[in-house]
Amino acid sequence: MKRISEIYPLLEEPKNIVITFHQKPDADAMGSGVGLYNFLIQFGHKVTVISPTNWAGFLSWMPGAKKVLDFEMQKEKALKALNNAEWLFCLDFNVLNRTRNMEPVIKDLKCIKILIDHHEQPQTEAFDYGESNTEKSSTAQMVYDFIVNSGHAKMINKEIAECLYAGVMTDTGSFRFNSTSADVHTMVAALKGTGFDHSQVHENLFDNFLESRFRFFGNVLLNRMEIFYEYNTALIAIPQSDLIKFNVKTGDTEGLVNFPLSIKGITLAAVIIDRGDERKSSFRSKGGFDVNTFARKYFNGGGHFNAAGGKNTEPLEEVVKKFKKAIKENKEQLNN
Ligand code: 5GP
Ligand code: MN
Repeated sequence: MKRISEIYPLLEEPKNIVITFHQKPDADAMGSGVGLYNFLIQFGHKVTVISPTNWAGFLSWMPGAKKVLDFEMQKEKALKALNNAEWLFCLDFNVLNRTRNMEPVIKDLKCIKILIDHHEQPQTEAFDYGESNTEKSSTAQMVYDFIVNSGHAKMINKEIAECLYAGVMTDTGSFRFNSTSADVHTMVAALKGTGFDHSQVHENLFDNFLESRFRFFGNVLLNRMEIFYEYNTALIAIPQSDLIKFNVKTGDTEGLVNFPLSIKGITLAAVIIDRGDERKSSFRSKGGFDVNTFARKYFNGGGHFNAAGGKNTEPLEEVVKKFKKAIKENKEQLNN
């Protein structure tokens, strides 16, 4: 993978560009994607943003989000854009299987592939150019750096600012996590210079849920949460019947894992959800427990040191058993 700065001189030549990100995009993936879109269209490029799957309704306010194609629902259109692409930007994922059904398509594409990402252990051989930096707070921050370092800071408008702010704000836990460097605050100050309304962005993302989400949270916190004090660990395992009963939509489970993590003494929190086609897990840790390695070793996943996820094909009970075995095996690290 060559350095991303090598493409800066080519930015001004109009071309067909596709931007994609990981399946079930969060605000960082979607914000980086449409943020970059709002930048690139200013050069006259033909830009198509493709999401591998659907996304949460609370992301749809982002400028440009209405034009994003859902690969599963608009496959023909998406394939056409991919086959015509000269550049493909891959944002906020480290391994191609994070693009679900798009993986084989991306593998076969002959166009120039550019990675911008902050996850651990990226599959760099799959990309021609790119930047992978696990110290960055968010991919949104890296898109901001890309714009600024390529000499186009003046092109950052209100639309770009809203998208990138949404990404950096959510990926830093509202500027709480260690990754919130001075550079992050400097970036936000620069974004504020466009005059965008950050309170409105916060409201769009966090004050837009339906009642059913909270009834669901109430149910799982009461009935599905297990605490293993011996291992400083909390687990919420959710059967598919709960998702159906409470009419849970894409994005509704985001943030759930932070509840058990905020219990005194808990250093590892996990949510394992039976989504029907797979068992999806989310891991969060505090301090020295490395959930990236944990998710890779037991749950076919990965992510960051303190936030990772994975997926399994076995039934929920088996995945829960695996989890309980895994915490036993990691008892020492969990008690540090
Ligand atoms: P979440 O728990 O919010 O789904 O994901 C937490 C972090 O782990 C995110 O940075 C996400 O990209 C990563 N992650 C989640 N699921 C997977 C997975 O199945 N595979 C890999 N490699 N990373 C994942
Ligand atoms: Mn991210």
